[in-house]
Amino acid sequence: MKIGSNAGHTLPGTTGCGAVGLINESVCTRQIAKYFNELLRANNHSVIDCTIDKSTNYLKEAVTIANRQNLDYSISHHLNCSDDISANGVEVWIYDFNDRATVAAANRVCNELSQLGLRNRGVKENKKFAWVKNTKSKAMIIEYLFCSNAKDVGLYNPQRLAEASCKGLIGQVKVNPGSVGPSENNDSRCSYKNGEYNRQARVVNVGSKGLNIRQARNTSSEVIGKLVQGSVIKVDYCIDNWFSVWENGKLGFVYGEYVQLI
Ligand SMILES: [Zn+2]
Repeated sequence: MKIGSNAGHTLPGTTGCGAVGLINESVCTRQIAKYFNELLRANNHSVIDCTIDKSTNYLKEAVTIANRQNLDYSISHHLNCSDDISANGVEVWIYDFNDRATVAAANRVCNELSQLGLRNRGVKENKKFAWVKNTKSKAMIIEYLFCSNAKDVGLYNPQRLAEASCKGLIGQVKVNPGSVGPSENNDSRCSYKNGEYNRQARVVNVGSKGLNIRQARNTSSEVIGKLVQGSVIKVDYCIDNWFSVWENGKLGFVYGEYVQLI
């Protein structure tokens, strides 16, 4: 198949950028799209990258790129966001419920993603969303999860999300997403590779001050907990040296310089 792939929104902080919840939609859609595109190519499908990083009219430009090609599918990757922090789950928007093939494919995408633990909100129709309305090919907007919901954010793992949506779209994914592409780290202070860890680590280098657990992956976000020097925690997913951790059932993030894998 020939598939157009759009990482939803423009870069963080620019006109048209995505939602900011516990994680940043613009950053995450690019991480997901990167793996999605690589996985499709590794499985012998062709991919047209329709991502626009900077524009005052990004959707129109993205649709234009998609419509220059004869695509089988135009896919746009998004995270949902809500003022209601309990809202959660995956959903896929399509243009027309009468298009049975797209309904079936979108249902498969929802089902695969819900296997990761996300609530399946199902396939939804919208006649106004520009991406599904204006692209010539069959189209989907995949809202992978809510960036405003702690449980969903705990399940955020761009490789696994991309693998699931690819599988829903093309059937079988032959290539392990862990083997696809280098995992870049945009932070030079320490050098943990981006990706899933799911292992124990000890809190180090913090002395008597202890280690802050933050609400998001940056030092300006709220401190929601503290860990004492020497304590052992489980670190999950790492992006730019920030690990997600679950302490007392609550999701938070700690900086990699202050943990040592054991
Ligand atoms: Zn969005």
